[in-house]
Amino acid sequence: MSTPSTPSTSHPKGLYVLFATEMWERFSYYGMRAILVLFMTKALLYDKVLASNLYGSYTGLVYLTPLVGGYVADRYWGNQKSIITGGLLMALGQFLLFFCGSTYQSAPELSTALFFAGLGFLIAGNGFFKPNISSMVGQLYGAGDKRVDAAYTIFYMGINLGGALGPIVCGLAGDTGNPADFRWGFMAAGIGMLLSVIIFKQLKDKYVVDPQGKTLGLVPGDKKEIKTSQILAYAGLFAFSLAVIGLLYVDARVFGILSYLLVASVLIIGFMIISDKTLSATEKQRIAVIFIVSFFVIFFWSAFEQAGASLTFFAEEQTQRDLGFLTVPASLFQSLNSIFVVCFAPIVAWLWIKLGNRNAEPSSPTKMAVGLFLLALGYLIIAFGVKGVQPGVKVSMMWLTSMYALHTLGELCLSPIGLSLVNKLAPFRFASLLMAVWFLANAAANKFAGVLSALYPEAGKTPQFLGYQINGLYEFFILFVLMAGAASLILFMVTKKLQKMMA
Ligand code: GLN
Repeated sequence: MSTPSTPSTSHPKGLYVLFATEMWERFSYYGMRAILVLFMTKALLYDKVLASNLYGSYTGLVYLTPLVGGYVADRYWGNQKSIITGGLLMALGQFLLFFCGSTYQSAPELSTALFFAGLGFLIAGNGFFKPNISSMVGQLYGAGDKRVDAAYTIFYMGINLGGALGPIVCGLAGDTGNPADFRWGFMAAGIGMLLSVIIFKQLKDKYVVDPQGKTLGLVPGDKKEIKTSQILAYAGLFAFSLAVIGLLYVDARVFGILSYLLVASVLIIGFMIISDKTLSATEKQRIAVIFIVSFFVIFFWSAFEQAGASLTFFAEEQTQRDLGFLTVPASLFQSLNSIFVVCFAPIVAWLWIKLGNRNAEPSSPTKMAVGLFLLALGYLIIAFGVKGVQPGVKVSMMWLTSMYALHTLGELCLSPIGLSLVNKLAPFRFASLLMAVWFLANAAANKFAGVLSALYPEAGKTPQFLGYQINGLYEFFILFVLMAGAASLILFMVTKKLQKMMA
């Protein structure tokens, strides 16, 4: 148990080890993501449709593999081994992209193979890294320790510090205007990932310990670690990575297999839960709330995650980035979200406390509806920014910047709440399975983000979505206003009902 005399403001040193580990990993992830679609369109010369679809397949799979990594950690490896293995795989992925960026002119076929392999290793590695680092934060504290919420807030700052620095460093190194330079961005991302692993490996034994000083993340739960032979483990990992690479390739280039996989997974999980006869009526209703809320967040993240795709095309081609003394690389705009998180998070937290003191704090579903509304508002602003602007004419960067500010406020209303809602509502025996539903929703959203980004209007093309014709950027952005706006409105209308069901 934690000692009650511990001052409530101080945190175990292990938190800062996990903070730094996660910060460098996010540096690597968001740094690479900042230049990904630019690399595809400017170096590999993919068109925007293919680049968007690959972006969706890649980020979608990134949210799917944690289901596998979490399972392996729980049963076989524990958190520590999973984090180190996953981290090394991701570093390998970034360095493969570096070699891809070095060979795309001289050996295009080799370069394509390196590209898919690099992305595949990043996806596979993320599956082992991401779920395990997050779950270790809570384990640093004893049961009932009030500092856990603050710990996750500090950890979230680490995520966003990395998310802010990654695009700046990798953008400045790689997004120079010369496509041959993108590789330096991947190199920087790879070095960041290695730093993450080194920090964790060197400091974990000393600091990443439970309140009694016992090292965390070794033996999974109370179970005995199931020993697997080293060779078998590496063979399994290799086979898994190959499967992921294949899945990525098929989904982006042959047919959208990922969508079917996601729907099938949700149906199977739903069936597994429903068919459990021991569930009470209240539990069933609470589970239904998790499914409903997960459905709504798909609309949020699929519009939000345009950041790495269509909004980067927009930054590159339609945004006036010349400051006179320097031209801001398009990739740098991807750091705005994280910068705004660091600035706004304390304000939003303060607001909830203030409203709470007056007994006026909105319910979780209401906050999520507000989040969707702010997202729609962000797109409405940028839609007006581009209204009537001739193709090829660039608009002020204030439009993108204000939009990202609103999107971030929306994220702060929706993202932390969704996760804790799942934790609170899930019956204990279905906790992991329902967390999986949450991850699946994120995966679906990212995949869908790629599909939507592929509708980015270009000269001579008028893409359509469910009969809605996109003649220009105004219509493109209005599509997100309609989508997020409708989702927000419906969620507002059902909040009362959801609150009753959460009982
Ligand atoms: N930006 C946050 C992260 O990278 C949250 C993203 C999300 O939940 N989709 O962890």
